[in-house]
Amino acid sequence: MPQLAQRIGRAKPSAIMQVADKAKKLKAEGRDIISFSIGVPNFLPGPHVYEAAREAIAKDSGQYGSNRGADALLDAFLKHMEGVGLTGYTRANCSTGIGAKHILYNLAEALLDEGDSIAFAIPYWTSYLDIAEIVNAKIDLLPCPPEQDYKLTPAQLDAALARKPRVFLFNNPSNPTGMVYTRDEISALADVIAKHPDTWVITDDIYNRMVFDGVGYHNFVQARPELRDRVIFVDSLSKTYGMPGWRVGFMAGPEVVANAVTTMNSNHITNLPEIVVAASIAALAGPQDVPEEKCREFQAKRDQVMAVMESIPGIVCPRPQGAFYVFPDVSAYYGKSHGGQVVGNDIELCNALLQSKGVACVPGSAFGEPRSLRISYTCPTPQLAPGLERIREFFNEMQ
Ligand code: PMP
Repeated sequence: MPQLAQRIGRAKPSAIMQVADKAKKLKAEGRDIISFSIGVPNFLPGPHVYEAAREAIAKDSGQYGSNRGADALLDAFLKHMEGVGLTGYTRANCSTGIGAKHILYNLAEALLDEGDSIAFAIPYWTSYLDIAEIVNAKIDLLPCPPEQDYKLTPAQLDAALARKPRVFLFNNPSNPTGMVYTRDEISALADVIAKHPDTWVITDDIYNRMVFDGVGYHNFVQARPELRDRVIFVDSLSKTYGMPGWRVGFMAGPEVVANAVTTMNSNHITNLPEIVVAASIAALAGPQDVPEEKCREFQAKRDQVMAVMESIPGIVCPRPQGAFYVFPDVSAYYGKSHGGQVVGNDIELCNALLQSKGVACVPGSAFGEPRSLRISYTCPTPQLAPGLERIREFFNEMQ
């Protein structure tokens, strides 16, 4: 048989999906499973989104569309960006893709030659590592442990950028930690970026509308407008609008980068489907009550999760202020046993938790931080308290 390309040897299936599959299997066997594993928003968009999709079907042209994205979609995205304080961009600065993941993949192809370096923080969203490996980039990981609230410091970034990576990839609010950088923190990091002109900055901010406690969402370009020439903002409808399956992502940045992503589109996806485009415009430009309400709901759920985390001795859990994740450091329990079985690491702990209590969480090693585990708390509200209670019981029973 002929060989597969070498890059396929570097491509791995998503670690998160593997946990979700295990939980699904147990559920199918009749077990009572509460899933805190996969990062899905678990709500549907407002009725106006479906209405727009139905209208689009009724007048579907059946034609190919724009490689960059329909003008009306780009305009709706530009308005949406203004809503988070990013002004002065035009359609020529933007492009679209099949979700933010596709945009990130396109950006990796567009900005990184084989062997070029990409720097990003640990904990990272799993696909950052996988995409960087597929394009054969050199990966410079910047450890951000719980002791520094999982956040990158200006000194760390300064040292990393001094090594002249081609790309610095940043994520705010963060998956898996839920941490949000304050205005001052973004400003301090932006000052560092300004000192190092050789690096592109991708800022994956798809949770920008899910920020709690009045911290607000802040961006390097607001802090330092001259960084507009090097900063690429990535956004998505998936989480904000409860539309992960509709697969719509965006980028805004220098024209040369938007053109590169558009050229990539022209060679694989061609365009987003017309019906998806219509629904996306309705989501971005229509009433915002669903995302606003969900943000309030997630903040209350964050409080519920944190109250339990803080009640379990030995767990260290920086308080997240965005997205829908909590990322407790549970390493104080490694080496102890549950039900007579020694739990040595995050993977064994998540397995024991799933087997004994029917609660699925993702081991932190999937995100580069084996001391922790990720709790995604978007499950239906009635499941949250019982799921958390089972977690509390599990740790209480460890010896
Ligand atoms: N970036 C981050 C930080 C994410 O958490 C996710 C989804 N889990 C994505 C990008 C990809 O989102 P999309 O559904 O738009 O591809």
